[in-house]
Amino acid sequence: SPDQLVVTGAGDVARAFAASSARARPAVDDALGRARTEGAECEPVLAALADLLVGWGPSTALERVARVADLRDALPARGGKNGLGAAIRAARDALTGGESPLGAAALMLARAHEETWRGLLVELARRQRAAFDEAGAVDFAELLIRARDLLASDSGLRAREQSRIGGLLLDEFQDTNVLQLELTFLLAEAREGAPRPLGAEGPRGLPLEPGFLCAVGDRKQSIYDFRGADVEVFEELARAVEAGGGERRFLRVSRRAQPELVGALNGILGPILGQTPTAPWDVPFRPGEDDLQPWRPQLGPRECVERLVAVAEEDRADQRRRAEADLLARRLALLLAPDSDVHIPEGTGSRPVRGGDVAILLRSFLEVTHYTDALARHHVPHRVLRGRGIFGSPEVRDVAALLGFLTDPRNPLHLAACLRGPAVGLSDGTLVRLSLSRGRLDARVLAGALPAEALPGEAERWARFVALARRLRAGLDRRSLVDLLEDAWAGLGTRAVVAASPHGEEQLGNLEVVRELAARWDARGRPDPAAFARRLVELADRDARIDLEEVEDARGGPAVQLLTVHAAKGIEWPVVCIADLGASRPPSNGRLLVDPRNGLAFRPSVPWSTEPHPTPRSAALAEILASRELAESRRVLYVAMTRARDRLLLSGIQGRGGQRTWASWIDPVLDAPEVRSRVQRLDDAACPALPPHAPSKPAPVDPEHVRQALRRLEPVAVGALARVPFDAVGPLEGCLRRFQLRFLEGHREPGLGAAPGPPSPRHRDGRLEVLRQLLAALPGEAWRDGVPDQALAAAAGRAGLTLAEASGLRLAAPLRRLARALRGFTAEFSWAAAVPFEVQLGTATVHGRFDLTLTGPPGEAVVSLVPGGQPESPASLTVLLEALRARAGDGRQLRAALFAVDCDDEPLRWTPEAPVAPAAVEARLRAALAAGTTLAERLERRGCEALGCGFVRRCHPSDRGL
Ligand code: SF4
Repeated sequence: SPDQLVVTGAGDVARAFAASSARARPAVDDALGRARTEGAECEPVLAALADLLVGWGPSTALERVARVADLRDALPARGGKNGLGAAIRAARDALTGGESPLGAAALMLARAHEETWRGLLVELARRQRAAFDEAGAVDFAELLIRARDLLASDSGLRAREQSRIGGLLLDEFQDTNVLQLELTFLLAEAREGAPRPLGAEGPRGLPLEPGFLCAVGDRKQSIYDFRGADVEVFEELARAVEAGGGERRFLRVSRRAQPELVGALNGILGPILGQTPTAPWDVPFRPGEDDLQPWRPQLGPRECVERLVAVAEEDRADQRRRAEADLLARRLALLLAPDSDVHIPEGTGSRPVRGGDVAILLRSFLEVTHYTDALARHHVPHRVLRGRGIFGSPEVRDVAALLGFLTDPRNPLHLAACLRGPAVGLSDGTLVRLSLSRGRLDARVLAGALPAEALPGEAERWARFVALARRLRAGLDRRSLVDLLEDAWAGLGTRAVVAASPHGEEQLGNLEVVRELAARWDARGRPDPAAFARRLVELADRDARIDLEEVEDARGGPAVQLLTVHAAKGIEWPVVCIADLGASRPPSNGRLLVDPRNGLAFRPSVPWSTEPHPTPRSAALAEILASRELAESRRVLYVAMTRARDRLLLSGIQGRGGQRTWASWIDPVLDAPEVRSRVQRLDDAACPALPPHAPSKPAPVDPEHVRQALRRLEPVAVGALARVPFDAVGPLEGCLRRFQLRFLEGHREPGLGAAPGPPSPRHRDGRLEVLRQLLAALPGEAWRDGVPDQALAAAAGRAGLTLAEASGLRLAAPLRRLARALRGFTAEFSWAAAVPFEVQLGTATVHGRFDLTLTGPPGEAVVSLVPGGQPESPASLTVLLEALRARAGDGRQLRAALFAVDCDDEPLRWTPEAPVAPAAVEARLRAALAAGTTLAERLERRGCEALGCGFVRRCHPSDRGL
């Protein structure tokens, strides 16, 4: 309602109304006069309009605009004699558009929203900064802001920092932003006369030191606008460098693509990017600067670009995409067939194309199933590289949010995530109203009803969630994790909701992984929902990127890889297919438009239309955003095409997306003389479907290979290995095979290191050992003081490290966390580190060191460091307690704890009794030793990932997605 809107700048709005109605009235009066003369039928409409315009102003506008809009629409759009038609059109125009009364009413609505949004964003920034201050932490953006502000405001500090740096090399500069540009200017300021006061331009007005700065990057590969990169800063820095006497140099040699492909790419991408920028965010492609020269010899045929053109029977987007995906899959089946005539260079010769040589690049995964379905139909092995694994998927994050809310109901983010998730599905509007009605979004809102404005269906889902949350919270500490999850999923109908989504099968599988992980936690007697939720978040964060090593490993495999262009940046493949060229991304039709350089604008809902109404500001901003998006789309295409080494396949049917599709840019230039001879056009007829492969005949086997393989299976002598290191007990519990690989066969487990660590304290595999050394070198009082810098520096020095290195190698934080966890041990306890122990378990001896022992009047406590983030290992605790009992004798209180060096849990979980029977540990150990090198069955891949095992790629080489 207009009464509830807080209108700021009311004077401006009043002036806009006065001016617009003054402009509209004469036009309407003129049309009215002519209509009366003509006796036209539109005369009553015009008379009513003229009446409505009297006294038009901010207080009456919204009541009248709907009526004005109706009357305007009732006017004939054309026709009439003696100039009546033109007069009516003039009246209609005066009532519509940005500077009309209707436009002014829209402006009035938009201004209120814009002010509200600005206020919210300012408040958000203030609260974020306050939260950081409270936590003593900063995120990356805040780090940049504070560093920039510090260098800008403290000239002494700026001078000191400048004196420390003899030269500055900035790599990948196309992915930076204004903050990083300003930091660059502050550090690269011309030394003579520095530090200077900053003028109106801020740091960017500083002159640059000659011969000091080198920025490297490719503006054509700037594709991270969505996460804050700003392509304009590169040009700005380049100009400043030139103004300071520096120069631009162009790296123009392509070491990737074959000469014919380099020529084709120059010919295609030059016209697409254009030579003359029309906006600061346009990146041109200038001959002599951007076109590349080949470095490799030409080993393949001249025709290195394939344009696949399918025919769709219907003109619907999904039909076109299906036809296109089918043709692409058929073409790839032919390309990968044993008798394919396409080979790729290798060494001085060539070899057939393998699936792992091929990448299909898409702009987004929205339509990926068209392609995976087609590949499956034509028997082409493939895998989708999503970049976020199971734990980063929305359904698993929802589980973490639900458990987070149940265990910490004050956290508004957890509750918001639960309520917005698909199972409850509250709209943002309802969430905001709910939050405003209670002043905060936390568990207290569950005591009330939903606001009256809630959308249909929301009240029932809300009531169901409230009842379920109460029941789950009431039994939280008495239930297993699996029981809790099953109850929650049943109560929310999660499985049904997930199954109905386009990737339902995969998402249900992800929920099963979570269930398996929860079952394992339950089996270990640790049904702690809060810790489990934290573990899920930790696994999701670890999962965030595509594993480049995995991509490299898959090269030799049979599976074609599908990934987004953004994920493919920096990688290359012999054969690249760019699919879905006909897709267009319509410009955003959202109400709120935000641009980092130009601020925000709002398109309000107006009573006279169902569509958001543009205001002059929003229209201008929308144009800028659309232009930026188009410019970036060209650069994304550049990145996609330049991933190819030997062959490029272009696939997609031009649809109705007009000039916004890649096909509309590519197809016209394929006919250019320098490109045409390098392009092969393939249609449906050229790519018939292959029959399914007949099973291939097994190759003859060399008997010597069999003998060698059998020798590897001979059991090793158990007696010699019956001394087992303590570090082996944890892996023994999770997976026998892991124990065998690490401790019987001596393989290095990626991420953990081999049993004997490398000598350098800086080596990633030596981290646990160095932590143990530091722990031994720290005196008892340093522990009680929380490991101060001075004590840590002395201990690090003995290990050959500086204090800064110890922090950088993530050694300081775990030690300080451990010190905080041990705060309760007073001076009456004596501390000792690296105390050796041996304990007999049946036929085997487990040997190791207590990393830390604390001996006091009531008894003894030991702490052992374990790698990674999972402190739970009942077998390890059992062994520690057995060893401690043998050492301490009877009658003393004993307890043991494991300290996972990468787990954020602050308190140590002390265990006074062996959590499992020593006989069970012994039996497991005996089974592993008896198996020798006959490797135990591997676990399911999901189970291995949940364990965080480093051998996943060894045990499950390339079966994902096949
Ligand atoms: S990857 Fe799986 S099967 Fe292989 S060792 Fe690790 S946990 Fe065991």
